[in-house]
Amino acid sequence: MAEDLPVLVVGAGPSGLRAAVDLAEFGTKVILVEKRNELGGAPIRWKYKLLAPELRPAEEVMGPLLSSVGSNPLIAVHKDAFVDVCDGPPGNFRVVIGRNDGGAFVEKRASSIIVATGFEHFDARVDPRYSYGRAPNVIGINELEGMLKEGRVVGHDGKVPKRVAFIFCVGSRDKATNPWCCTVCCGVSIKQAIEMKELIKDVQLYMIYMDIRTTGQWEKLYWDSMEKYGINYIRGRVAEVYFTGEKLLVKGEDTLVRGPFEVLFDMVVLAVGIEPGPGTKKIAGTLGLQLNENGFLAPMHPNIHTESTKEGIFLAGCCVTPMSIEESLAEGSAAAMAAVKFGRRLAPKLEV
Ligand SMILES: Cc1cc2nc3c(=O)[nH]c(=O)nc-3n(C[C@H](O)[C@H](O)[C@H](O)COP(=O)(O)OP(=O)(O)OC[C@H]3O[C@@H](n4cnc5c(N)ncnc54)[C@H](O)[C@@H]3O)c2cc1C
Repeated sequence: MAEDLPVLVVGAGPSGLRAAVDLAEFGTKVILVEKRNELGGAPIRWKYKLLAPELRPAEEVMGPLLSSVGSNPLIAVHKDAFVDVCDGPPGNFRVVIGRNDGGAFVEKRASSIIVATGFEHFDARVDPRYSYGRAPNVIGINELEGMLKEGRVVGHDGKVPKRVAFIFCVGSRDKATNPWCCTVCCGVSIKQAIEMKELIKDVQLYMIYMDIRTTGQWEKLYWDSMEKYGINYIRGRVAEVYFTGEKLLVKGEDTLVRGPFEVLFDMVVLAVGIEPGPGTKKIAGTLGLQLNENGFLAPMHPNIHTESTKEGIFLAGCCVTPMSIEESLAEGSAAAMAAVKFGRRLAPKLEV
């Protein structure tokens, strides 16, 4: 009976973990497949310290999810693994799971599938303007998260930076790379600037932005950053980050005063955008799912992300579009509910 078969969840970031835990709480068995050798997705991989907008410790969100998945006998976890084959009818999919270390393949049956394969960061080496990967002390917001968590933000020479620029929209809202907005990177950058100011009291921070997109509750971070922390904002576009041999010279145009600027910094932080990763492309191929023109998984209906273009396969989180952790968790729960409803709806049909 479809209702008794497990649900396959692909990807163990916030959305996949939430889906797995909710399914198990419904009494539904889960097969959780994660390609990396650790669970938790981006918040664990990049060592998030505080979550915007509330600035609460990432452990408060991720800890209970990870321990529930680890301890619930209804959830079978396959780490370092991938879905190799999927065929059979919705309600009774045949799934073959492989291991990245070349270990034995296992065959399973699943009533439905939830795809929660998340995102990757834009690789700033693609855009040579920023000198990422060539000049020292040019880092991504993903790398800064780990430094903030360790409580140690230093340059490659071990020196504490005195003047730092954040450059917004790197690999976002740019038709030459990724035309979409990554939605969280303004707020995440401002959150990180506040954390940096708490850590290095005399650091001077300059946020070089196109537009500030801190919607809803995230707007408070923006005001606090200026009013409580004295963080500076420059509305502008960066033309080049140039390493002088000692400092980083950021050249660009101030689009408010309509004039060029050139400022020396000790460190440059790139707010690298969110894009669909190779894991999403791979699972789309394996499951026969449609991608949209930007490479994200296409939902059946533009305003309901949960349903994919194939019956019995549901979607959640950043594999559909960039979103916050709060939204990813909600989508994981919604996908779990959709999978349970699907199993129950199909059960009598399969019995006939
Ligand atoms: C630097 C940074 C800081 C952020 N800080 C915040 C914040 O403070 N507050 C906030 O609300 N949001 C924040 N976000 C956004 C947040 O990271 C995302 O909303 C969240 O991680 C999305 O969860 P997800 O489960 O959809 O994807 P992910 O976290 O990307 O997890 C997806 C998982 O799927 C796995 N996977 C991929 N492909 C496959 C495959 N084919 N097979 C098996 N497994 C696969 C991946 O390895 C990964 O473990 C931040 C983002 C960035 C870039």
